[in-house]
Amino acid sequence: MRYISTRGSAPELNFEQAMLAGLARDGGLYLPAEIPALDDIAGFEGISYEDAALRVLRPFTGDSFTDDELSGAIARAYDGFRHIARAPLSQLAPGHHLLELFHGPTLAFKDFAMQLIGQLFQIALSRSGQRITIVGATSGDTGSAAIEAFAGLANVDVFILFPHGRVSEVQRRQMTTPDAANVHALALDGHFDDCQARVKDMFNDHAFRDSVGLAGVNSINWARVLAQVVYYVTSAVSLGAPGREVDFTVPTGNFGDVFAGSIARAVGLPIGRLVVATNQNDILHRALSGGEYRVGQVAPSISPSMDIQVSSNFERALYLAYGGDAGAVRQLMDELKSGGFTISQGAREALAEIYASGRVSEDETLAEIARIHAETGQIICPHTAVATRTARDFMRKGVPMISLATAHPAKFPDAVAQALGVRPELPAHMAGLSGKPERVTRVENDLNALKSLILDRRQA
Ligand SMILES: *Cc1c(COP(=O)(O)O)cnc(C)c1O
Repeated sequence: MRYISTRGSAPELNFEQAMLAGLARDGGLYLPAEIPALDDIAGFEGISYEDAALRVLRPFTGDSFTDDELSGAIARAYDGFRHIARAPLSQLAPGHHLLELFHGPTLAFKDFAMQLIGQLFQIALSRSGQRITIVGATSGDTGSAAIEAFAGLANVDVFILFPHGRVSEVQRRQMTTPDAANVHALALDGHFDDCQARVKDMFNDHAFRDSVGLAGVNSINWARVLAQVVYYVTSAVSLGAPGREVDFTVPTGNFGDVFAGSIARAVGLPIGRLVVATNQNDILHRALSGGEYRVGQVAPSISPSMDIQVSSNFERALYLAYGGDAGAVRQLMDELKSGGFTISQGAREALAEIYASGRVSEDETLAEIARIHAETGQIICPHTAVATRTARDFMRKGVPMISLATAHPAKFPDAVAQALGVRPELPAHMAGLSGKPERVTRVENDLNALKSLILDRRQA
């Protein structure tokens, strides 16, 4: 399996190389040169999540990992999840289902991909003896999942940039309390988009990139996208696919999770519609509904993991919608530097075949948490509420709708308390979180300062 860049001028890589690289050297994102069809989808019925993962991943990993390496990595990745089904479905209303993706160690769906790539990185690095420096940007959940997956690993330093003061207390503590020496939590003065932009700057500085062995684990990493394809398949099959169509609604920020859904559709899963649900930071809703991708100011919300304006993985969807025209993508990304671009008519139509979209206000999000609680007794997190609220506008008769529950409500207790007047309890294994000492460095939004801090801190 060969991987190519959305901007067309980076070297082609195999799966392992694309995973270790993260971002392509031309600034683009890696995609498989062809998308293989998934064999025997009906045969997924009743098999374990781990077996399903092996069958979904295998055609994409080529000869990078043996079957034994891959199945071992999958087994270790999901062993720490607190539900035997890993990604169980529950029901909210007739025809409306909730895919619970918060049973992993850091209580958000990011664990599905991060735990797996932690294992795969370990195999690859112990084979090559290479030393790497992971630098990631987070709006809260990627950082905690990455730290959980990479803390204490030999040959790896992990630097996580999060926007100072803009993550929830639970998210912050998950990043600042691990005591492994290879973990470095950095609170940057700025928004998530600033964190993400500085990480991209470091990747585009090839001398720095090579000198520290920079590796990226943000959702721009193809291996993360691939890991997320699995739960689309398992959940759709439990509701009758491939004999029946299903729709999904996905609370969206960086477009990684919903893009994984589009890959599930491309390999042959009968997905009718992928509904992109945004909070008040609605650039994706505006782009998909009106064709204009224009960057505005980030407005901090009660669903902070989606407080994003520049949505990195959308570049992959654009590349496919423009029929694999890397020149067109380069042009759009150039225009983005001066604030935005207009999507061509043909590409808009291609996107509309796959995606629908909606936007949910802060008040609607709170009302939705209260409504779901009143109707089902279940407490959902604010990101999940953005999805379930949007999903209700897109229900189709006879087609099951699956809303993705991307985090556990206890990660966002303030929003839940605002909606319900009660604070959800952290699961028992995380009860000690608030008593532990924190380790964090406050940093300016300055590339050179960040580069020297990384050179200085890493355990070369
Ligand atoms: C990261 C995150 C999202 C957004 O996912 P993307 O892949 O960035 O679109 C939604 N909800 C939660 C809880 C998250 O952590």
